[in-house]
Amino acid sequence: MAEYAKPLPVVNDLNRPHWEGARDGRFMVQRCLGCGHLALPPMPNCSGCLETSMEWVASSGRGVVFSWIEYHQGWLPGYRDETPYNVAIVELEEGLRVVSNLVGLPHDQIAIGMPVEVWFDEVTPQVTIPRFRPRV
Ligand SMILES: [Zn+2]
Repeated sequence: MAEYAKPLPVVNDLNRPHWEGARDGRFMVQRCLGCGHLALPPMPNCSGCLETSMEWVASSGRGVVFSWIEYHQGWLPGYRDETPYNVAIVELEEGLRVVSNLVGLPHDQIAIGMPVEVWFDEVTPQVTIPRFRPRV
């Protein structure tokens, strides 16, 4: 297996449940115990009501492409050999929008609103990064 050359997530006490969930095949998001607002990346306070009590819940991992962009410049090592690559905003069925990448299809087939599902990319033995692929 070639060494993974892209930046890896910095796992900390705030985001650890997300990354551990990904390794276990679950797409974990943060939910406010005060108002139910969902967040990812996680926040120490709810952006909806400022509550500090949060829990982690497994998302369905299903959603649609809300927006996406194609990068032609590899600004960081690991991306230089993969241009063009995409960065997408996926709107989950739960309503939360998350930033990720779309995999498994050429860019000319990406469409706003297309159904996608999470796919867990095991990039190192320690790190699994959730990405999204077309849902059939
Ligand atoms: Zn809240």
